[in-house]
Amino acid sequence: KFVIQDDNNYGFTKEETEKLKVTGEKHEFQTEVSRLMKLIINSLYKTREIFLRELISNASDAIDKIRFLSLTDPNALSAAPTLNITIWTDKDNKVLTIADSGIGMNKKQLIENLGTIAKSGTSEFLNAVEDKKADMNLIGQFGVGFYSVFLVADKVVVTTKNNEDKQYIWESHAVNDFTIAEDPRGNTLGRGTQIQLFLKDDALEFLDDGVLRGLILKYSEFINFPIWLWTTQT
Ligand code: ADP
Ligand code: MG
Repeated sequence: KFVIQDDNNYGFTKEETEKLKVTGEKHEFQTEVSRLMKLIINSLYKTREIFLRELISNASDAIDKIRFLSLTDPNALSAAPTLNITIWTDKDNKVLTIADSGIGMNKKQLIENLGTIAKSGTSEFLNAVEDKKADMNLIGQFGVGFYSVFLVADKVVVTTKNNEDKQYIWESHAVNDFTIAEDPRGNTLGRGTQIQLFLKDDALEFLDDGVLRGLILKYSEFINFPIWLWTTQT
């Protein structure tokens, strides 16, 4: 029987959650990160599409890292030999997914990188926005681009697998806390990171194949790896 210790379902469907047993652990976002998320989730910033640039850039960085490791470790790539970025939508559930076969994160990195260790850029960005010296578009330059996902999503699920650890799932509804669980399915990714954005009802344009294609073309100029967009045939 399905047992869960919190309200989260880690992106699983009802059917899956009935079969799986997930034990999540709760972590508080670092205070500045919390403030940043509050700012982002309530933002009226119009050019919300920049979240996709940030996710593609993170995916590309992660692939660069595993490629670099593979120069000295010939086995580094074996769990997922093809280096690419894949984007698809689930229109019924209003989910946009961006996946990469990059380096992935171990559990410690997942907790630190996505929420508990504030970079200096977090408060710098907050101050700059408050003083109107920066707008949302500059978020990536302050080293906190990931959080721009909350411009368009009210729930985000990150599934990640690093060569040195098990596969973990991170889920957040922004602002105060996030949960982490070992993935009950085991290793489904091979290696890399998959980010599911459960889109806000006013951000459903990001389910549109044409809109996504345009944005990917716009943001992929300096990306050295293939980006696949799965589309539905009409
Ligand atoms: P930055 O990219 O400037 O470091 P971000 O807020 O965009 O800042 O990302 C924070 C951190 O989260 C990254 O530095 C990286 O360690 C981790 N991260 C984010 N996305 C991925 C990904 N797709 N694969 C691996 N690690 C990631
Ligand atoms: Mg980034």
